Amino acid sequence: MARVAEHAAALDVERIRADFPILRREVHGRPLVYLNSAATTQKPRQVIQALVEFYEQHNANAHRGVDTLGEEATALFEGARAKLAAFVGAPDPACIVFNRGTTESINLVAHAYGRKVLKEGDEVLLTQMEHHSNMIPWLLLAQATGATVRHLPIREDGTLELDALGSFLTHRTKIFSVTGMSNVLGTIPPLRRLADAAHAAGAVLVVDGAQLVPHLPVDVVDLDVDFLTVSGHKMLGPTASGGLYGRRELLEQMDPFMGGGEMIREVYWDRATWADVPWKFEAGTMNIAQEVGLAAAIDYLGALGMENVRAHEERITAYAMERLLDAGARIFGPTDPSVRSGAISFWFKDIHPHDLATVLDQEGVAIRAGHHCAQPLMRVLGVPATARASFYIYNTPDEVDALIDALRVAERLFRTA
Ligand code: PLP
Repeated sequence: MARVAEHAAALDVERIRADFPILRREVHGRPLVYLNSAATTQKPRQVIQALVEFYEQHNANAHRGVDTLGEEATALFEGARAKLAAFVGAPDPACIVFNRGTTESINLVAHAYGRKVLKEGDEVLLTQMEHHSNMIPWLLLAQATGATVRHLPIREDGTLELDALGSFLTHRTKIFSVTGMSNVLGTIPPLRRLADAAHAAGAVLVVDGAQLVPHLPVDVVDLDVDFLTVSGHKMLGPTASGGLYGRRELLEQMDPFMGGGEMIREVYWDRATWADVPWKFEAGTMNIAQEVGLAAAIDYLGALGMENVRAHEERITAYAMERLLDAGARIFGPTDPSVRSGAISFWFKDIHPHDLATVLDQEGVAIRAGHHCAQPLMRVLGVPATARASFYIYNTPDEVDALIDALRVAERLFRTA
């Protein structure tokens, strides 16, 4: 890890890239240009090695035995929890519930908190730019409780219509759940302001941190959020790693989400009592190796410094937006790189995004095309889908150029088609 720290300040992208074996491969005979990190990031060898080492040296079930391997696995798993807690500024590792990521975390909050507090006539407030992960669990909850789901509109420029906040966030609102960074528009809402407004209305603020946590320094105490989700696979960690930060007193009041082994204290034929938080929410054998891998990812990002990660992304986003606009693309979301992320959705020359992505793939350039799990937002934007290029610590300006060259190839192809 020291090697990473040496070049952290400057974010020496070439040296970072050397840590990612997959970036050396070719696709259709061309060097891979991976511009799909908003879907999932690539993994450095430090993370891959942590998984290999776990399985080769320490593999056992956590919290199950007093044998050496069992104790090592437990220590690594709980060590990962402490690392994730520190990474998001949580005051106590007990505030971190491990699970597969954002989807599972929001379902957990909807079931274990939402079902407890919501009744008919209450409201859950979302925004128009939410991922289906931050919509469907609330829709299901509304069906079960008789509560209503409302959506704070967005403005033309892809930012939230904050002037309307007062009429959407009322005494009926019990839960306000918002993305910390839009996976489509790149928008970064003013979370502290939203937390203050939610609390003033008597609601809790849930933040979908899937895109936020990998890209910006985050401190749950400064932001005063009640729940924050973390998707490990979007921040160099293994798939199915990550979890949920929850304010401890809320976690303590909540019922379990799933029942099974290890989440209990005492079980009788007709009743049971629950383990302390966070284990009350961790039924069955957990994603031990994945969370250990996530700890290695956190070490890696921590050594780079999240301010440096953000600075690099801002620079590359500015360059990519400039080149995309020059090439004739229509960009969705805020145009100022300092207030948005490096997930850039665009529409290019009336070529359907799926066709565009297929041509780009032939050129070695991986982007995402589709509705990005945000169908209602696509309707607001008036398009069936968008193309999306998204950037991370390992992307270079040369790769932006490769994207533009590939777009020109698509343009020529579809002009003559
Ligand atoms: N929320 C947002 C904004 C996302 O971008 C994603 C993933 O694309 C999710 C939620 C789902 O996260 P996960 O894959 O961890 O369940």
